[in-house]
Amino acid sequence: MLKIFNSLSKKVEEFVPLEKRKVGMYACGPTVYDYPHIGHGRKYVNDDVLKRVLEVVEGLGVKHVQNITDVGHLVSDADEGEDKLEKGAKKAGKTVWEVAQEFTDYFLKEMDSLNIIRPDVQCKATDHISEQIELIKRIMDKGYAYDTPEAVYFDVTKFPDYGKLFGQALEDKLVGVREEVVTKNSKRNPVDFALWFKRVGKFAEHAMHWDSPWGDGFPGWHIECSAMSMKYLGDQFDIHTGGEDHLSIHHPNEIAQSEAATGKKPFVKYWFHSLFLAVDGKKMSKSLGNVYKVADIIEKGFSPMALRYYYLSAHYRKQMNFSWEGMEGVSNSYKKMKKEFLALRLEGGQDKNIFGAAAEASLSGRGVFFRDEFVKAVEDDLNMSAAIAVSRTVLKDEKLKDFEKRRLVENFDRVFGLKLSERDEIPADIPAEVMEMVNKREEMRKNKQWAESDALRKEIKIKGYKISDFFDGVTVEKL
Ligand code: AMP
Ligand code: ZN
Repeated sequence: MLKIFNSLSKKVEEFVPLEKRKVGMYACGPTVYDYPHIGHGRKYVNDDVLKRVLEVVEGLGVKHVQNITDVGHLVSDADEGEDKLEKGAKKAGKTVWEVAQEFTDYFLKEMDSLNIIRPDVQCKATDHISEQIELIKRIMDKGYAYDTPEAVYFDVTKFPDYGKLFGQALEDKLVGVREEVVTKNSKRNPVDFALWFKRVGKFAEHAMHWDSPWGDGFPGWHIECSAMSMKYLGDQFDIHTGGEDHLSIHHPNEIAQSEAATGKKPFVKYWFHSLFLAVDGKKMSKSLGNVYKVADIIEKGFSPMALRYYYLSAHYRKQMNFSWEGMEGVSNSYKKMKKEFLALRLEGGQDKNIFGAAAEASLSGRGVFFRDEFVKAVEDDLNMSAAIAVSRTVLKDEKLKDFEKRRLVENFDRVFGLKLSERDEIPADIPAEVMEMVNKREEMRKNKQWAESDALRKEIKIKGYKISDFFDGVTVEKL
């Protein structure tokens, strides 16, 4: 049985879904005002791994919903500063709608390149304004929110548990909230948060705005996640994910407003938070020039799957440190693992499921042992580095037959998502002369002319290219 850390209870808990065999999972998506970076990649790969474990190993059906924040997220999570989308649009000299579309497309492309399975529902905040208004109405009807000339605010004093959620002291949430803002906005309490901003004052020119019972305006950032998660997953669901930055403001706010509206506890059963990725031990920042995109990793000659392997090597509850040296190292480990795997004979049926009791009869005793070691690792709060170590041991094992090794690791890769069985394409920029030699050598190998093919490999190397042989063909790379 899967055990997972629940950041609300701060304990590792057994995972038991609310409904038999079905899991509802909501992930806080990106704010699409700028390029996504490899820190985002880490968070969404961690979500993807959790989902794959639930589906592949636990045999559960997961409905995965992820939002796209295209309105309402201010520079500070505590309702201060500009709207991030407006800021992005100003910088790019484009409309907010153009900026949102452009970065949404870019985000999806980068996440695809990391082999993240797309969520079943990807919902935009701007497509769900009426749902957000309805939810705010419910919250107001229950007496948890109040109207002011500038915004509708959630009254946290009406929600007695608010200060205790995720163990964050109320005073910590006050960091960055200035006293004069409180008076100006007529917030009753500095920690109260906006459900609906009105198009007045600093937002008088706000580009995205809609009619509402409280006047022309736009939703606060937090309400979209409650409205959309409940629309697609119901008032109560199993898993909610996010980065560690959401522990102090965004997620307590989601809980407070959702439970206030529905009167049901809990809104979410398990909270899954990924810690951040840092670069060379420092927070990524534009001024340090260390904000890398997946595209930058590819440009330096690394496979995005090697980056995914890097993510898997760090536990989701530990901060991960990225460095180019580290990238080089994991890229070599990834290539080695893939090479060992692809050298194993294909016989058909290697992808047949190995998980669950029914699969046992089709595995050797040793095969069952390694399968169980893998399951033990992933069920132990997603210990992916231990699961990778099991794969390495399997590939090196001297007693397992090649076919069973291939079957085990191919199944493990349904969780890793490392595309181990996809042989890398031969790059298009290999000179014709070298390609001719490569093809000639392939012919020789087919005819079992080993000495001649070895001699040709050496000639190819002198020309500056390296050949790797796999069971079903070769790849070529520049040395
Ligand atoms: P944002 O677009 O900033 O709202 O972020 C989208 C998601 O990525 C959120 O769940 C963040 O917590 C997460 N995230 C942002 N920066 C990082 C980082 N450096 N490392 C890991 N996750 C991050
Ligand atoms: Zn959210």
